[in-house]
Amino acid sequence: MSNEVSQEISYGEKFKDFLRNFRDSTGAFKYVERIHRMMNMDMSSLNVDYPDLYRYNTNLAEILIDNPEEILNQFGEALKDIVSSEDPSYAEKKNKFHIRIYGLFNTIKIRDIRTNHAGKLIQIEGIITRMHPIRSKMIKATFKHEKEGCNAEFYWPAEENEYLEDKIEKPTICPICGEAGGKFTLVKNKSLYIDWQELTIQEKPEDVPGGQMPRSIPVQLMDDLVDIARPGDRVTIVGSVKLQQTGSTSLSPLFELYLEANSVKVSEKVLEEISITREDEEKILDLSKDPWIREKIISSIGTTIFGHWDLKEAIALQLFGGIPKQAADGTRIRGDIHVLFVGDPGVAKSQLLQSASRVAPRAVFTSGKGSTAAGLTATVVKDSRTGEFYLEAGALVLADGGLAIIDEFDKMRPEDRISIHEAMEQQTISISKAGIVARLNARASVLAAGNPKWGMYDINKPFPDNVILPPTILSRFDLIFVVRDFIQMEKDRRLARHILDVHSDYDKFAPEIDPQLLKKYIIYAKRYVKPKLTEEAKNLIETFFVALRGSALSSSNQEGGQTPVPITARQLEAIVRLAEAHAKMSLKNEITEEDAEEAIRLTVSFLTSVGLDIETNTIDANIITTGASLQSRKLMSILVDSLKRLTETKQCVRSEDLVNDIVNNHKVAKDKVIEALQRAHREGMIIEIRNGCYKPA
Ligand code: ADP
Ligand code: ZN
Ligand code: MG
Repeated sequence: MSNEVSQEISYGEKFKDFLRNFRDSTGAFKYVERIHRMMNMDMSSLNVDYPDLYRYNTNLAEILIDNPEEILNQFGEALKDIVSSEDPSYAEKKNKFHIRIYGLFNTIKIRDIRTNHAGKLIQIEGIITRMHPIRSKMIKATFKHEKEGCNAEFYWPAEENEYLEDKIEKPTICPICGEAGGKFTLVKNKSLYIDWQELTIQEKPEDVPGGQMPRSIPVQLMDDLVDIARPGDRVTIVGSVKLQQTGSTSLSPLFELYLEANSVKVSEKVLEEISITREDEEKILDLSKDPWIREKIISSIGTTIFGHWDLKEAIALQLFGGIPKQAADGTRIRGDIHVLFVGDPGVAKSQLLQSASRVAPRAVFTSGKGSTAAGLTATVVKDSRTGEFYLEAGALVLADGGLAIIDEFDKMRPEDRISIHEAMEQQTISISKAGIVARLNARASVLAAGNPKWGMYDINKPFPDNVILPPTILSRFDLIFVVRDFIQMEKDRRLARHILDVHSDYDKFAPEIDPQLLKKYIIYAKRYVKPKLTEEAKNLIETFFVALRGSALSSSNQEGGQTPVPITARQLEAIVRLAEAHAKMSLKNEITEEDAEEAIRLTVSFLTSVGLDIETNTIDANIITTGASLQSRKLMSILVDSLKRLTETKQCVRSEDLVNDIVNNHKVAKDKVIEALQRAHREGMIIEIRNGCYKPA
């Protein structure tokens, strides 16, 4: 016993020695300064860089790893002594001090944490997926000894440096009168508590071996660590591995590992985990001077996929991204580029998505249905075991700072359909449910693919009729491509040859640029390259914008007051983003005419692929933003007018009568009128008051 006590004192004393005498490379007493700063800021936690301790007292640093709970307690007490020697009232007021350890030499992969780590101090990296509400945890109970002649109240555990662990254990003997008789009652409001919170940390998507599910571990935060991070944050956590009983009875021999956090570091910068060495930088700059660099980057995506150049280029631009802008009043314009592929089955959409996930430095791959309860955005979930609610982050939050790849986008859940609007434009997700209120970051680019509503893309129907997605979501994509399974003899022959080649000689399809280097190239561009629009590029984009509006105006000289808006302000922002990304691809600091031209070419290609109004043959981007082509909008307003006229004398009009009236008076095809009626009903312009009988809204 006496041996143990002397040991304890000596660890604390050794640590005091370190705090008082360690000098950094400039000769400064780093920790003496930090302690003063801590006191000035009215805090009770001191950050210690593990390499410093290791250098000063290797033995102590190693013992810390093996027995963190005990040693950290002593370190905390040692700090309290030092503070107390300078300002006893400060030490008294704060009561408990923490040493927070940062920068262990090794990071353990979450999937490698095993029973043999229990009781040890480890460091993990991951992404916060779940957050539980903050609770109060009792660390010292106050008991009252209800016995004649005593009635004393006392803290329990009675020992000053001891705290409650998993259970509130009742005293058996009164520490005041020394007797066992009578009753000990808990006085809740005189007990000591600290803030307590549970999180779940999951492996970063880029750390998950191909094809496997990400693993996760529960983490408990206490005191000033509570609430310092949110779902979607990428964190490095140092903590001790502990065990908690699973199973429903207290006799269950099954335990689950969790981490009691000692320190939490949230990464701030974009992709800061990946470092670029001097050597890398040389290679990157060399590569950027290649006049064919863009073509090489594009052809490094989906090397086994034949054709689809524009789609690959869209992915490449997305990987580089535009530049986010923040106005002085805080409003933000996103830099992330969203891309959607809609098309026939079997045209390599899914393959393209997968190839994007291989070159993206950070990507989350999911299906519209979502692979977890959280779906695409975020959800408040009820824990089936405890009945408590917690917040779980979905794909767009986990992809913060990277690419969210969503296959089967049209199958997304109704809740996601609502919250995805905010996620794609403001790039945040707000949640307020079951007492949990949070706003999470979702600064991700969305690369989505979906199938047409009718299985195959029907060119006789306008684009919005071919997809199940509402126009409000469609209008948030910078580029949309319709991929159709054309039958073209010559192309088919080449495609067949290509696929056969892929299957017989895979090596031939090695990418032009090594994927590892390409990833670093992209990170370099995102970190350091911020190109600005030149006057020439501005002029070009402006001319294009004005001309396109004008051309669509003059080509739709039909009656009716509606002005077609061929290209909206949102699409103008998209063109700027695409031009920025195009310049970033070759690490240019200026956006020149060639960048603007390419952005315009892709936009035209997108608008013709989806927006070509088959009824008027004009590019009508309105059909993306409003969901109906101008022709059917007109028909809908004719329909409402007729209905108003016909209901002047009666309560409602039967659908057949209404349709016939319009067919006769306006010479339009019957099925078009029926379609317009259904749409007008869906959009709430007309109301069905009895079966098949309508009145204006
Ligand atoms: P989708 O997601 O569009 O339904 P997939 O990506 O699942 O289609 O592709 C179906 C199969 O057809 C894949 O094995 C793919 O490799 C092949 N395929 C289709 N089009 C091409 C193409 N252009 N080049 C190479 N392979 C293709
Ligand atoms: Zn007593
Ligand atoms: Mg598919």
